[in-house]
Amino acid sequence: MTALQKLYEGKAKILYATADPTILLACYKDDATAFNAQKRGTIAGKGRINCTMSEHLFRKLEAAGVPTHFVDCPAPNEMHVRALTIVPLEVIVRNFAAGSLCKQTGIALGTPLDPPLIEFCYKNDEFGDPLVTEGRIYAMKLATPAQVREITELTQRINEILRDFFQQCDIILVDFKIEFGIDSGGRIVLGDEISPDTCRLWDAKETDPIARVLDKDRFRQDLGNVEGAYQRVLEKVLAN
Ligand code: 5GP
Repeated sequence: MTALQKLYEGKAKILYATADPTILLACYKDDATAFNAQKRGTIAGKGRINCTMSEHLFRKLEAAGVPTHFVDCPAPNEMHVRALTIVPLEVIVRNFAAGSLCKQTGIALGTPLDPPLIEFCYKNDEFGDPLVTEGRIYAMKLATPAQVREITELTQRINEILRDFFQQCDIILVDFKIEFGIDSGGRIVLGDEISPDTCRLWDAKETDPIARVLDKDRFRQDLGNVEGAYQRVLEKVLAN
């Protein structure tokens, strides 16, 4: 399927139309941004790594009955996906406290969260993707109560599957962000990507708080060896 018109360029991916109006081509970029694009850089090989890792995880989730937008990968950094109407929510799952949760609440880094915390942010760069309450979601008509229920149930299942999978890889799934869309049949489907850009991943065999970080925090916090960490995660994922 040949890529036609460029539809949208985001921070991490470019979306193209294809000859089939129900299928889009997502090209994953090496560009990296953080803090609402105030920090910019490049992570060599990131496009290929994030695309390949997402493919692997989407296949696992599909096999477990979770609907995803994944179709196929015509190249290591390219993914055909089903066209979706995006639900403008970032769904965050936290198994352990880190990042903005620690900053905003004082909960200590690494505190286990049982049950896992599921949070919603309004996907809008202009407002800095703010945390929203369920009431605000309905007031802003971002999703219906039935959709929020279904998204929450799917998210719980996705977390169980991913947490178990990463455990097999000797990686702790600290937290992650996912996005959903609605397909032409009205079905809620997992979209976007699952990668070290969108997950906090800690090496389960490493106790050093800097050495254990295998995700985008290495870029956000200038911890060094960003490429090496991304490549290590991909190797562990592909081996399981
Ligand atoms: P936090 O709210 O602590 O900054 O992020 C929680 C989790 O969601 C982290 O794994 C982080 O990578 C992911 N996340 C939250 N917002 C975004 C976003 O806008 N872009 C990406 N790539 N990941 C996000």
